[in-house]
Amino acid sequence: MTVTPLPQRRPFPLTLEELNQEIRNCHKCRLWKDAKHAVPGEGPQNAKLMLVGQNPGTEEDKTGRPFVGRAGKFLNKILEENGINREEVFITNLVKHVTPQNRKPLPDEIESCAPYFTEHISLIKPKIIVLMGAVAWQAPKVKGIKYIGTVHPSAAMRFTKMRKRFLEDFSVLRKL
Ligand code: URA
Repeated sequence: MTVTPLPQRRPFPLTLEELNQEIRNCHKCRLWKDAKHAVPGEGPQNAKLMLVGQNPGTEEDKTGRPFVGRAGKFLNKILEENGINREEVFITNLVKHVTPQNRKPLPDEIESCAPYFTEHISLIKPKIIVLMGAVAWQAPKVKGIKYIGTVHPSAAMRFTKMRKRFLEDFSVLRKL
């Protein structure tokens, strides 16, 4: 596992809202051109838990909010069943713009967005980060945080084996 140091690049740290605003105006890769909204993520600054998906889908692009489509409804149900209040969790994606035909983000798109992820971590300081799906697993790893890798909720919705893994991982999380 590669451990990434937290970013030092700003002389004055941004507030969470300033960082989210910077993400909304981001033109670092090609994806902003066809997107309606960037989706920085949502949740309180004192969240102990951070959930990370791949990139926003169509509903998220329309609304500017993470996990509000079908996968989001499924995720909400699993959170509720495990006694986790969505309002207390910071939910985001590794890549902040929708991709064409919801294709997997390209390596340079992930690389452009990754610093936003570490900046969110430095502001929120979560105890646990759940990386959902193979793209999210590529997120930078920051020392002192417990990472849990699970499958993506869309896959968990569709495939029994994946659902079993997803449910198991969330029941472990409940105990933490
Ligand atoms: N899938 C994701 O990875 N993220 C979302 O926000 C919605 C669907």
